[in-house]
Amino acid sequence: MKSQKAPLRMCVGCGEMKEKRELLRVVKTKDGEILLDKTGRLNGRGAYICNDKKCLQQAQKAHRLDKAFGTSVADEVYEKLAEALSDAK
Ligand SMILES: [Zn+2]
Repeated sequence: MKSQKAPLRMCVGCGEMKEKRELLRVVKTKDGEILLDKTGRLNGRGAYICNDKKCLQQAQKAHRLDKAFGTSVADEVYEKLAEALSDAK
């Protein structure tokens, strides 16, 4: 086992491992809503993504969020996430 200073998470877009604080968390709430968790405190299943629209596009193309959340993620959800990403910058 490698020792790591900070917990690493994988971006669902580019697949790179990065420190958690460098990534944005996308969460699926218990109501099945998928949103950008800006506080990092929402309950639910989470996935991580770089603060980069390219990663979101890659994730969309490869349906990685569908896999991460075990559900089919609608295009409008990706659009909302893209908007939230640009706000987060
Ligand atoms: Zn990425």
